[in-house]
Amino acid sequence: MNPSGLSADQVKLQARARELAAGLVATRAAEVDRTEQYPWDNVELLKDAKLIGMTIPTQYGGQGKNWLDAVLAIEALSATCAVTGRIAVETNMGAISAVMAYGSDEQKKMAADMVLSGDKPAICITEPDAGSDANGMTTRADKKGNRYLINGRKHWITGGGVSRLHLIFAKVYDEKGNFEGIGGFLAIRDETKGLKITKREPTMGLRGIPEAVIDFEDMDVPPSSLVIPPRGLKKGFADLMTAYNSQRVGAATVALGIAQGAYQLALDWSGKREQFGRPINEFQGLQWKLADMSIKLSAAQALVYNAARSGEGGFPDMLLAAQAKVFTSENAIAVVNDALQFFGARGYSRELPLERMARDVRMFTIGGGTAEVLRNVVAGALLKKKLPQTRDGWT
Ligand SMILES: Cc1cc2nc3c(=O)[nH]c(=O)nc-3n(C[C@H](O)[C@H](O)[C@H](O)COP(=O)(O)OP(=O)(O)OC[C@H]3O[C@@H](n4cnc5c(N)ncnc54)[C@H](O)[C@@H]3O)c2cc1C
Repeated sequence: MNPSGLSADQVKLQARARELAAGLVATRAAEVDRTEQYPWDNVELLKDAKLIGMTIPTQYGGQGKNWLDAVLAIEALSATCAVTGRIAVETNMGAISAVMAYGSDEQKKMAADMVLSGDKPAICITEPDAGSDANGMTTRADKKGNRYLINGRKHWITGGGVSRLHLIFAKVYDEKGNFEGIGGFLAIRDETKGLKITKREPTMGLRGIPEAVIDFEDMDVPPSSLVIPPRGLKKGFADLMTAYNSQRVGAATVALGIAQGAYQLALDWSGKREQFGRPINEFQGLQWKLADMSIKLSAAQALVYNAARSGEGGFPDMLLAAQAKVFTSENAIAVVNDALQFFGARGYSRELPLERMARDVRMFTIGGGTAEVLRNVVAGALLKKKLPQTRDGWT
């Protein structure tokens, strides 16, 4: 055991991921950002290194690894390329983990095969008028004979246009128009009629993965495409969102990795850059800054690892995942900002990775549940009650 409580296998896995991150993944990161092209070459590297589909059970061709194993890989990759780190998140957590937990055997086989061959599934929840209030979604699935017809619009869907497998959340109605609950439907881009990628969002950072608007126009799917957790459709959304706790831990891990990468650059630079005839790390103002950065990173790492460990045999605990995401995303932004400051004008240049890291890390208090909404999750768990946010919820 080492100080982080990692097993010998986990230390090896971490070393393998770090080696990959320091090699071609680092070399390509600026190009991925500049061209805004999805890094298919890096997907091949991840496949070869067996860093995607790690959490898929062995009976479906994966490695049956745990959340912390995935976290170690994501953390290492994100230190040099956050886009590649995010691909590792979404090929080990989120939609794929929901299907592997709740899908039928057929759904599991299909999803596992697609992910193991390099597809990063897309999870489609957010809509133009339903963001934090996901229950307010208006995308609907209407039962028509032995089919569902899905209509609606999702936006900010990560991977829209490159992902093939989609897990689409919609309000489900029976043939008489009665609301049955929110369900998740599987569909495949270019195969499922009526699924249209309408627009790519121009993003501040993380530019190598498209964020897209997706329209569903009479998208026609069979009932066998519906992923139904054991408690049925009525509790379907709550159960599917439990699976999303893994993605939250993954998102926190990417933020952590970016901040660790930026911190390391600042630490190294502070010993090389001289002003007033001495290395800048001899100034106490910067020494204390480095100390604060390292404290924030150690605390964030402990929260992330702890949340990942809480998911042994299931999904990460909702409270621990929310705490880890809020703390890590906010402190990672602060650490990257401080790291950039160490470089003075150079930090502001596009010739160094700091400005890219600052753009990339900014996302993590937003996507995957905002810091505000996750504070509501934390408070609700502490107070052991639902905290309704709608006006009528308080009456
Ligand atoms: C890069 C990126 C990738 C994303 N990927 C996906 C994806 O793959 N799939 C997907 O479905 N979605 C995705 N999203 C969408 C993301 O989940 C939403 O942006 C997020 O849930 C917030 O919704 P919103 O943007 O509509 O903000 P809004 O809900 O409009 O919130 C606006 C502000 O109000 C605050 N707020 C809202 N309600 C409350 C409240 N009750 N208490 C306190 N504050 C509140 C919010 O925290 C926020 O600061 C992604 C977003 C980004 C930026």
